[in-house]
Amino acid sequence: MKAAILEKITNLKENKRPLKMVELPQPVIGDGEILVRISVCGVCHTELDEIEGRTPPPRLPVILGHQAVGIVVERGKFASRFAIGDRVGIGWINSACGRCPACLAENENLCVDFKATGRDTPGGYAQYLAISENFAFAIPDFFSDTQAAPLLCAGAIGYRSLRLANLMDGQRLGLTGFGASAHLVLKMVRYRYPHTEIFVFARNKDEQSFARDLGAVWAGDTNEESPEKLHAIIDTTPVWKPVVEALKNLEPAGRLIINAIRKEETDKDYLLRLDYGRHFWLEKEIKSVANVTCRDIREFLDLAAQIPIKPEVEEYPLEEVNRALAELKEGHIRGAKVLKIS
Ligand SMILES: [Zn+2]
Ligand SMILES: [Zn+2]
Repeated sequence: MKAAILEKITNLKENKRPLKMVELPQPVIGDGEILVRISVCGVCHTELDEIEGRTPPPRLPVILGHQAVGIVVERGKFASRFAIGDRVGIGWINSACGRCPACLAENENLCVDFKATGRDTPGGYAQYLAISENFAFAIPDFFSDTQAAPLLCAGAIGYRSLRLANLMDGQRLGLTGFGASAHLVLKMVRYRYPHTEIFVFARNKDEQSFARDLGAVWAGDTNEESPEKLHAIIDTTPVWKPVVEALKNLEPAGRLIINAIRKEETDKDYLLRLDYGRHFWLEKEIKSVANVTCRDIREFLDLAAQIPIKPEVEEYPLEEVNRALAELKEGHIRGAKVLKIS
């Protein structure tokens, strides 16, 4: 099968071709697994973190990619949830122990044995993928394969971020960073919390106008003061400046949700600008979002079909994965990037 592999950790500023196209044998499935022929796979910011070593794969080479959509073509002896020919999606969550307190409380994202697709196990930048049937998800008919792919990570983790924001309808929400996840959150909020006003912080003027087009009441630069204080802000940026700048815009007891697997080191000194009175005082909170649970993916796919949310996507052939990654790194984002595989 065709696959794009990462052979070594590298710096994307110097290396514009971090992934290599290769031919690999088709994966062999275990008893509880299904074999999926992949049609498309979304490109996520987490791939940049893997390539640059902020969340390094434990073994190299590895096939990246964790927003895969495809068709079940083979089932293991004990796999019965899906029929041959069913369409399924695969997300970042690849497996968890299933027995620990976190797993039993449906927080498999916090399990110490949490494994991620495309980091700890082979991912979706390939023609075939083997996965436990318990970690594959039926895709509502409403979506095309390309539309469904970004829902599996950007969408599901956006859904989790919003759950953790504890928002009530009518409270004001901020979004700092306006990429794939944030634009899906915006659509979700407009449906679930119709009286909530959304304020967007983004460096890029295009992103600001994209946010206004989608219904944000205000959009400005990362360091601007919002016209009103906000009850919660979701940060989807890879850096520190937006964290510091967001805190000043929170209401008392407001909560900042950081949706990033790792932050880059480049502007870490920005944290020295933290002022206790201006940024933390009055019971403000910061909470990170870790991974994603099966429940998040399941519930979000249903919600997205109900609303409905059709993400804005940009397509690339698998062979051009390096161009997709470079454009993501440079911040050329208008919607989500998806690789066409077969
Ligand atoms: Zn992702
Ligand atoms: Zn567990």
